[in-house]
Amino acid sequence: QAGARVGICEDSRIGGTCVIRGCIPKKLLVYAAHYGHDFHDAVAYGWQPHHPTHDWGTLIANKDEEIDRLNGIYINLLKSAGVDIHEGKGRMVDAHTVRIGQKAITAETILIATGGWPFIPDIPGAEHAITSNEALDLKERPRRILIVGGGYIAVEFAGIFAGLGSEVTMVIRGEELLRGFDNDVRVELAQAMNQAGVEIHTRSNIASITKDRAGLTARTDQGADISADVVMFATGRAPNTRGIGLDDIGVKLQGNGAVAVDDYSRTNIPNIYAIGDVTDRMNLTPVALHEGMCFVKTVFGEEPTAPGYDNIATAVFSTPPIGTVGMTEEEARKKYGKVDIYKSRFR
Ligand code: NDP
Repeated sequence: QAGARVGICEDSRIGGTCVIRGCIPKKLLVYAAHYGHDFHDAVAYGWQPHHPTHDWGTLIANKDEEIDRLNGIYINLLKSAGVDIHEGKGRMVDAHTVRIGQKAITAETILIATGGWPFIPDIPGAEHAITSNEALDLKERPRRILIVGGGYIAVEFAGIFAGLGSEVTMVIRGEELLRGFDNDVRVELAQAMNQAGVEIHTRSNIASITKDRAGLTARTDQGADISADVVMFATGRAPNTRGIGLDDIGVKLQGNGAVAVDDYSRTNIPNIYAIGDVTDRMNLTPVALHEGMCFVKTVFGEEPTAPGYDNIATAVFSTPPIGTVGMTEEEARKKYGKVDIYKSRFR
């Protein structure tokens, strides 16, 4: 729309983490899980009791159909905007050239937006564990699932599986879920999850996972053995910067592998920019979109625009869901000393 000739190189499906294996499929599963409570509550509102059963296969098939539909919409949007789609894995060979299989594509400006990928700590038996990628495509819903980590993905999937009837255990290395969120919210969520039957082991790490005929056993460094059919790690995501030639052409990375950028999303090579999770600034879809729009203004609109990171609203689709914006109480106290807190509980 800014008049540039554009090509996209993608080796998977078009749409990115959010559309293909993140927010959107996750949200469909969260929505499915809520029905369990609603059926239960409906009786008090006069609906005749009934005992619906849940079919995981139907949910996953319909979720897949929706993702196919969205993937198609994205491809059509790009094609009707005149964007060339280059399928395959791209590798930068110099500051202006990306090699995709036998093709070499050149461009004046290159934007790296390769996102991130789930990270599993290197422990004995890690090969038996899955991540959110596989959790969205399980053939059957596990009767017992162990979720490792206490961030966004962990609490969201705990709510999904608990709502659909699985026994859910969580193992977190800290004292409370959702580090960085307001303490009142963290405590309230843990209580609600406990009430929904989720067992949370705090101050624990998984030391090993073993597999036998009865399923998986995860041993914590506190000596607890937790039996499960599925062990899922939601211990963060690592930037996708390997194998795409960034080292070869001298694009500077940070210690954690994220592309280092300035305030305008520009790397150390003047015609190469990076936005989204690959830069590990604030890994949220709307923030990546904002960074993208700022990049367009800066490079094609002759209006240098730095993305802002203050007052970003965020939602966690836990059960119950959480919404926040601005400082936490702890941050406000640190900045202003004395603060007034207004708190209400609604039932
Ligand atoms: P998060 O960074 O949110 O959470 C990672 C969790 O794993 C933390 O509890 C962390 O503990 C723990 N952890 C990290 N490393 C280890 C380790 N080696 N051993 C044990 N525990 C560990 O990552 P997620 O994977 O949940 O999500 C990835 C990103 O995706 C997030 O940045 C988030 O912004 C985004 N996202 C956003 C959603 C939304 O907007 N609703 C939904 C899902 C994802 P500790 O706190 O102690 O560091």
